Amino acid sequence: MQKILVSRCLLGQRVRYDGGAHGPFTLLERWQQEGRIVPLCPEVAGGLPTPRAPAEIAGGQGAQVLDGHLPVLTVDGEDVTAAFVEGAEQALALVAQHGIRLALLKARSPSCGNLEAYDGTFSGVRVPGEGVTAALLRRAGVQVFSEEQLEQALLALAELEASEGTSAGV
Ligand code: SF4
Repeated sequence: MQKILVSRCLLGQRVRYDGGAHGPFTLLERWQQEGRIVPLCPEVAGGLPTPRAPAEIAGGQGAQVLDGHLPVLTVDGEDVTAAFVEGAEQALALVAQHGIRLALLKARSPSCGNLEAYDGTFSGVRVPGEGVTAALLRRAGVQVFSEEQLEQALLALAELEASEGTSAGV
């Protein structure tokens, strides 16, 4: 059975920077019952507290952080790059451990966002981009979806399991 890496905040766990959470999502509840979910909050795993100061990447490209070209900075100007990279590496370790090929991560997070990010000005401006963890997973060949793409994630799971001869229950 395919396991799926899921952002902890999407599972109702209060790990967001502001102490909040998201959900419930019916699909994630089903995946939990099926025992598919490997939960991770990369920022907490990387050593950051909750609540914590919001952080952004200038230009919103997590890959540039991975390559050492840009830092992740909090709204107060603190450099939290090391924690973000550590969280991404823990995600990659879980992917290797569980043979994960699919992730469902929180949209627009500087760690988890897969298609869009905030632009680093802390003014709510969105740009095409991705978070640090999402970028590392994508490089590793993991398909990364967000909670705004639940149907696509379900289809991708069905395709993966069909190719393996197991059932995703769709
Ligand atoms: Fe943690 Fe990712 Fe959720 Fe942010 S978006 S709280 S890093 S799981």
